[in-house]
Amino acid sequence: MKLNANARFATKCLHAGQEPDPSTGAIITPIFQTSTYVQDGLGQHKGFEYARTQNPTREALERNVAAIESGVEGFAFASGMAAIAAVSTMLAAGDHVIVSDNVYGGTFRLFDKVLRKYQLTFTYVNMADLDGLTRAFTPSTRLVFAETPTNPLMRLIDLAAAADITHRHGAKFVVDNTFASPCLQQPLTLGADLVLHSTTKYLNGHSDSVGGIVVATHAVDIEWLRFVQNAQGAILSPFDSWLVLRGTKTLPLRMAQHNINGQALAEFLAGQPGIRAVHYPGLPSHPQHELARRQMRGFGGMLSFETGSLENARTVLNAVRLMALAESLGGVETLISHPATMTHASVPVDERNALGITDGLVRISAGVEDIDDLIEDLAQALDRL
Ligand SMILES: *Cc1c(COP(=O)(O)O)cnc(C)c1O
Repeated sequence: MKLNANARFATKCLHAGQEPDPSTGAIITPIFQTSTYVQDGLGQHKGFEYARTQNPTREALERNVAAIESGVEGFAFASGMAAIAAVSTMLAAGDHVIVSDNVYGGTFRLFDKVLRKYQLTFTYVNMADLDGLTRAFTPSTRLVFAETPTNPLMRLIDLAAAADITHRHGAKFVVDNTFASPCLQQPLTLGADLVLHSTTKYLNGHSDSVGGIVVATHAVDIEWLRFVQNAQGAILSPFDSWLVLRGTKTLPLRMAQHNINGQALAEFLAGQPGIRAVHYPGLPSHPQHELARRQMRGFGGMLSFETGSLENARTVLNAVRLMALAESLGGVETLISHPATMTHASVPVDERNALGITDGLVRISAGVEDIDDLIEDLAQALDRL
């Protein structure tokens, strides 16, 4: 098993960062469930001293995801939020950050309720408007934090253009790539300095692990993230590292079906007379469909639609049988949720309405079930409206 430097994406997903175990030949990287490593003699060890600092299972995952994001090194954390918190330690008191509006609720909470205590300031802008992004810079702006597609309205940011503007202002461009996954979009190849994930979603893909990862390209960032991963200690466990590593092997297969099912559900919903709007980048009616075609290799499994009222949304959410009513996304099972009262309940109602997150909006994370069963389920739920 030797990986060529020019190996393609699916091959890298399977093999990058992984060698058969040298002691047994086991093809799968073992779960190294150990806290410490015995040293051969004083000052002589095999590169492993203490398991917060180094763990072979975690390293295999970090190398794998670094390769599939076209980055240099990866650092795995106990959750997506821990990964974002680690990136935030690149800032110092007085620094300013520009954040895409509609950002993941937990990210907003970390920035607004925790990091503002440390004299950091944040400005939220609609980065689909590049002039608006340009106007948001101040002499203290050090970081631009973007998420595309956004949750739950699936709006896009032109990553290459936003990276360019950010660099002209001397700041770092960070992309949360959780919604697209590296299978559909690789921000580092479009100019981002750092890319991060909640591995809880598509990278693990099986709704059975919580984790996060940051992939870096610049030597200074790599050095700092390695230091901070050990200094703060919010590491991903060996078992979770192993689970995510198993997940990335099938990422291209899963994403191919997520794309098919997402597109089919969006087209089905767009043809329903009672549905007022469908938000999915793969529909020609999406305001940034052209950008999606250029920037993404597939439109993914996330979509949302407008039922018109809270009552209608409740009817649909309570009537589905196969789709599970749950927060989260990116797993093999189809999940359905109500952003206004679930994922975005902490956003004030005026702001929610201004963003388009109405009481009638329903979000779907399309899984990989047979699409005919998914459409049948949704059809019988919509029949009750
Ligand atoms: C879930 C999610 C996070 C947070 O990840 P956790 O693993 O839940 O901590 C961050 N960003 C996005 C886009 C997410 O969907």
